[in-house]
Amino acid sequence: MIEYTSLKSNYNLYGSEYEAAALRVLRSGWYILGPELETFERSFASYLGVKHCIGVNSGTDALILAVRALGIGVGDEVIVPASTYIASVLGVTENGAKPVYVDSKDDTLLIDCSKIEAAITKHTKAIIPVHLYGQACDMDAILSIAEKYGLYILEDCAQCHGAKWKGCLTGTQGTLAAFSFYPTKPLGALGDAGAIVTNNDELADKLRMLRNYGSRLKYHNESIGRNSRLDEIQAAVLSVGLEHLDECNAIRQSIAEKYMNGITNKRVRLPYIESAATHVFHLFPLIVDDQKHFQKYLEAKGIKTQIHYPIPPYVAECYAEQGHMWEDYPVASYIAQHEVSLPVYNGMKSNDVDAVITAVNEY
Ligand SMILES: *Cc1c(COP(=O)(O)O)cnc(C)c1O
Repeated sequence: MIEYTSLKSNYNLYGSEYEAAALRVLRSGWYILGPELETFERSFASYLGVKHCIGVNSGTDALILAVRALGIGVGDEVIVPASTYIASVLGVTENGAKPVYVDSKDDTLLIDCSKIEAAITKHTKAIIPVHLYGQACDMDAILSIAEKYGLYILEDCAQCHGAKWKGCLTGTQGTLAAFSFYPTKPLGALGDAGAIVTNNDELADKLRMLRNYGSRLKYHNESIGRNSRLDEIQAAVLSVGLEHLDECNAIRQSIAEKYMNGITNKRVRLPYIESAATHVFHLFPLIVDDQKHFQKYLEAKGIKTQIHYPIPPYVAECYAEQGHMWEDYPVASYIAQHEVSLPVYNGMKSNDVDAVITAVNEY
């Protein structure tokens, strides 16, 4: 059986380093808001080349707090891609603001920047580009629209740690960027974790307050905050992961390259990578005519796959009152019904990669 992903084989690559880091924290007697978090925040900010990194307890919280820090709430609108994981939208709706969806581009499967302007109204406050699957969005287009209309940019960087647009790392060009360190993500903790990065001192200061009960000074709660901190064990583990991030991205990129060169079956469409973008292949999305049939076929050959994402946010049950239909965003709906992700993970055996290629070509 070829698993879709294997956190264990990823762990085993650096197991002794992870264990030493976790044990160091367990024995230190300091578990929340301590030196490990400060070290990780400093190193991640420096990896990206930004001024501030604020650790929080998940990517979802990073999005929620980022939207809140921008002062966006009831009566405001935020542009989001129609095709994304629902957490990108939860950041908006958790603050009482309205998500305004923009359909995807047929080739990259990312937000179609040529359709953003038509979605802007006088209530629009921000754009959330999502560098989905691990490929950078067209940041030139997004920056120029944001500038023209005076909008904030909140990058959703849950899947793209280390990916670049024209040499600029994703997460460095927006007003704010939200990262997830969910274990499967390109930089993953061994539990839940996330962070927000920014070059803006004031926003950074506000976010540090919001993640800690809305208080800068103990027992002085100036804002209705949350308890959303990145704990010391996860921070220590993430410092290990960060040292290996580029190397891990390169491992997945070489698997993806094998797929790109080896898969020749005309019945499947390979990922399209914009020439200005890099792709870190958090996922390897294929487009196929018969999604369910293709999945069953591979399953019968012992190959597990996944669909990203079968139910787009605009038709999610929890958002039924927004009143959207599948037909509203035809490209995003097409992706939801035709995408199948192949296995791509650190520690995946070379034989397994070959077996996937053979099976796909024989489909
Ligand atoms: C994983 C993910 C999130 C949420 O991150 P969590 O750490 O799981 O809360 C947000 N947006 C996208 C695109 C994601 O893939």
